[in-house]
Amino acid sequence: MRRLILLGAPGAGKGTQAQLLEKLYLIPQISTGDILRTAKQACTPLGLAAKPYMDKGLLVPDELIIGLIRERLQQEDMHQGWILDGFPRTTVQAEALDSLLNEIQQDLEGVILIDVPEAVLFDRLVGRRTCPLCKKVVHIAFNPPSPDCANPECPKQWLQREDDKPEVVPTRLQRYRAETEPLIGYYQAQGKLHTLNGDQSPDTVQKQLIALMDPPV
Ligand code: AMP
Repeated sequence: MRRLILLGAPGAGKGTQAQLLEKLYLIPQISTGDILRTAKQACTPLGLAAKPYMDKGLLVPDELIIGLIRERLQQEDMHQGWILDGFPRTTVQAEALDSLLNEIQQDLEGVILIDVPEAVLFDRLVGRRTCPLCKKVVHIAFNPPSPDCANPECPKQWLQREDDKPEVVPTRLQRYRAETEPLIGYYQAQGKLHTLNGDQSPDTVQKQLIALMDPPV
């Protein structure tokens, strides 16, 4: 499997797993959340349009995201495959992806749902911190940052995302349930859905993901 979607709630571990797969298989991770955060920091028109939604934990309007994916999927580095992380998040986005893939004659090979109980997600999100330089993600309780980061330039400054604050997280989880969870049925109906238990160590989840990517012949 080289053209896939990682599906799951905020905090399920999609980003962590997508980064590991990207290194292992040399296929790009497309994280719409990362693209939007970079655009927001740089105050581009996309970033400025997305900011009010992101800060409140709401989904950015479909047309902004679909335009962004349409452009990204047609870039040169996408030919060997891609890992979509955080897209699609609504049925409208999933339908737009189907028709775009049809148009550019590419196949979605599988959708992997990383399933984590809702009670676990809140604690994962509010404790999450990111290095602004290397983008490494840690958790203040479950995976505390090591003082000896290999990068000599590391500012050792672990930042909390605005939308990981405890007052915003419930809205994000609620939007996931209302708008993104229906995609489980959407991809099940297409026969493309695989489900992994995400309430395990990142290493264990990674091994199970690799087994799905490279099934025994
Ligand atoms: P993430 O890093 O994937 O949790 O995304 C952070 C935020 O970016 C989300 O809470 C949304 O506001 C926005 N976002 C990212 N991907 C999408 C998407 N596919 N559709 C709508 N909004 C998105």
